[in-house]
Amino acid sequence: MKLRVVVLGAGFGGLELSTILSEELGENLEITLIDKSDSFAFGFSKLDIMFGRTKPESVRHYYSNLVKPGVTFRQETIRGIEPESRQVTTDRGTYVADAMVVALGADYDIGATAGLAEGGDEFYTFAGAEALSRKLPLFSKGHAIVGVAAWPYKCPPAPSEAALMLHDYLTTHGVRGDCEISVVIPMSAPIPPSPDASRALLAAFAERGIAFIPNRSVRALDPERRIAVLDDNTEMPYDLFLGVPKHRAPDVVEASGMTENGWIPVNPATLETRFPGVFAIGDVASIGIPKAGVFAESAARVVAQSLIAAFRRSDPPSPFAGTGACYIEFGGGQVGRVEVDFLSADSVTAAYTDASAALVAEKQHFGSSRRARWFGL
Ligand SMILES: Cc1cc2nc3c(=O)[nH]c(=O)nc-3n(C[C@H](O)[C@H](O)[C@H](O)COP(=O)(O)OP(=O)(O)OC[C@H]3O[C@@H](n4cnc5c(N)ncnc54)[C@H](O)[C@@H]3O)c2cc1C
Repeated sequence: MKLRVVVLGAGFGGLELSTILSEELGENLEITLIDKSDSFAFGFSKLDIMFGRTKPESVRHYYSNLVKPGVTFRQETIRGIEPESRQVTTDRGTYVADAMVVALGADYDIGATAGLAEGGDEFYTFAGAEALSRKLPLFSKGHAIVGVAAWPYKCPPAPSEAALMLHDYLTTHGVRGDCEISVVIPMSAPIPPSPDASRALLAAFAERGIAFIPNRSVRALDPERRIAVLDDNTEMPYDLFLGVPKHRAPDVVEASGMTENGWIPVNPATLETRFPGVFAIGDVASIGIPKAGVFAESAARVVAQSLIAAFRRSDPPSPFAGTGACYIEFGGGQVGRVEVDFLSADSVTAAYTDASAALVAEKQHFGSSRRARWFGL
């Protein structure tokens, strides 16, 4: 008998899960891996696209290269999820399985921030990052704000990285002296779980003359007056607004009845939802840890190992620890690293390694090793 699994979403979580199951169970497996897109790209590529370091086409990894025993990829759009019966309906068909893993990530609610669509830009979608890559060369003086609309948002270091990379970009273009940069985030520090990483980022902001406004989110933009309105009604004039939009679960997930307070609650140890045999991993789940690819990946490992254990009637794996290493772009050819462990001890640990050129190579390896593992490229 084969293990039948339907995996919704071929992002960080879905790709890692399918890869492990295929490696371990091969021909004893029947995975249907569904994604509406034809390709995967790392979230951090959006920063590279925005600052003209690369072109969109060179960061796309096509699912047509995904050839794994027991895995069938279907490029289809999911229209309905019935968790009670572990059934999913797409624009092309219906699939039922022994286990269902929801790995559909987070969508954006750009309209939730009044004026953002009309008067600002965002760098969290590929379209937004590409639009900014065309707009940035025209920005030569004034105030640039990197602003977050609401918590939670993917990759909490990304706004800080964007500000530091913007500093480099404007310096290279010879206009930094005519520009101000501010970062507005709804947290007390750039990376609250890691005081050392936060200190390093605050020092980097101070050295570069970047203003840091903590504990605030951007409520609205007034495009006519070119004003960003914060959640305490402070008004900040801007000439360029690089936004992180409000995040939300995809519509189809909300319509499935699986969400509470906007996201899918799961058992933090097993990632199982309240529906037997239905798991949720990555950005779409709420476990109280940040939304980032590395945590989607480590959650995928736990779910894969528990499906394998159930299939082989062996011992279940250790509980999900919420571990992962995040790389932080400091600009100037320097990358730092935070290794976080959210759940295995009573309190969070987050060891920080200072930014260096050596970590640039390690971050590149992080991407290339996954590309090789998931796509054989
Ligand atoms: C600017 C930026 C920088 C980042 N940097 C980092 C970083 O350095 N390190 C890090 O770990 N993380 C980083 N992230 C975050 C990371 O990209 C996400 O947290 C990660 O991709 C989440 O993985 P996931 O599997 O939950 O969802 P995703 O990878 O988003 O995958 C979800 C998939 O579901 C598909 N999907 C959605 N709806 C449907 C539907 N209805 N039908 C079919 N398919 C659907 C989507 O096409 C997508 O492929 C960054 C993000 C951004 C925006």
